[in-house]
Amino acid sequence: MPKYHIWTIGCQMNKAESERLGSFFEELGYEASASVNEAELVVLNSCVVRQSAENRVVNKLDNLKALKKARPDMTLAVTGCLVNADTSKLEERFPHVDYFFKPGDHPQWLESPREPVLPRQPNVAAYVPIIQGCDNFCSYCIVPYRRGREKSRTVAEIVTEVGEMVGRGAKEVTLLGQNVDSYGHDLPGKPDLADLLYELNDIDGLLRIRFLTNHPKDMSLKLVEAVASLDKVCEQLTLPAQSGSNEILEAMGRGYDAEHYRRLVAEIRAKIPEIALSTDVLLGFPSETEAQFKDTADLLSELNFDTVHIAAYSPRPGTFAARKLADNIPPAEKKRRVEHLERLQEKIARGINARLKGKTVEVLVEGEKGGRWWGRTRTDKLVFFNDSRDCRGKLIKVRVEKTSPWSLQGIVEG
Ligand code: SF4
Repeated sequence: MPKYHIWTIGCQMNKAESERLGSFFEELGYEASASVNEAELVVLNSCVVRQSAENRVVNKLDNLKALKKARPDMTLAVTGCLVNADTSKLEERFPHVDYFFKPGDHPQWLESPREPVLPRQPNVAAYVPIIQGCDNFCSYCIVPYRRGREKSRTVAEIVTEVGEMVGRGAKEVTLLGQNVDSYGHDLPGKPDLADLLYELNDIDGLLRIRFLTNHPKDMSLKLVEAVASLDKVCEQLTLPAQSGSNEILEAMGRGYDAEHYRRLVAEIRAKIPEIALSTDVLLGFPSETEAQFKDTADLLSELNFDTVHIAAYSPRPGTFAARKLADNIPPAEKKRRVEHLERLQEKIARGINARLKGKTVEVLVEGEKGGRWWGRTRTDKLVFFNDSRDCRGKLIKVRVEKTSPWSLQGIVEG
């Protein structure tokens, strides 16, 4: 059987798109390979949201030159946010790549090497894109330039797809979009994310629903109500703050201030006391002062997030910030700020998770690693435990015995 290999970096949207590509390749008759050397079809799903990610993609592409030379029959394709509308520059720079296709596009050029086979089994926890692109144009972000304007999939299409996935073994879905709070504004009748959640909650056999990413300026109380009232929607939200400084938030073009953000978190916690919150922060934005950095540190200390994704600013070509603002925070200082917040967050997460010691949590088991089962709680905590039974796809009650800032370990209850 011919083999395919997909190399993926970047956001959950990329991971979801790689899963879909893998599924499509398998339907065509390809078999997955962990090694690039054995594959007839190699796809790089790229990310350029930070300079460091772009560097990794370029290194990978450069390293594949020799392989393509040795095996000219191998098909090499690139997708993801490296690929823009005009691919001529990329074709010139990487002549060993056979195809460039835009993120979310279908690889039309691919022919079936053999009789199509049955669709593969999805993961226990599957990803489902519901809206592509972004209309926000935050001043630092390249995503709207690469993924284009917002385009929602219809409620009917999503409900059908989730129903099919559940029929083939998925138990949990995570709905994906760069800004899920914009979902539906471009559809007839303007359904929103809450409407979609009410529909999905009725699917038999589906156990859990999650979604990301929210935008603090757009997240509605109707959505918070839906999360609070729907039994399958998990008590977990991703709500990127990006900064705790109002001047920086304004320069970023985020459309809210720190007070709005604090109010929103207070409203969410009042309605859903057990909610786990995750946020993203971007440090070292042009001209970020020590005091402005401290505003972000204070926000984290005050709001006690379960997880924080911390990134250092890097100018992305074509964005407002790259064109108009000097990248004037030295790399060593950005690194210091990132490490400071990582230490702070580690302490916060350690404290939050330590409170779960001795408690019983419900884990949806996703797989086995190193002889132990692993899965997640409704609040997205990663849990490991031992069990001789086949636990994949099952809800298991686990008593937590050991905690760390990143995961929990326990024993099966009863
Ligand atoms: S909301 Fe802002 S940060 Fe998020 S994808 Fe859109 S432009 Fe980028």
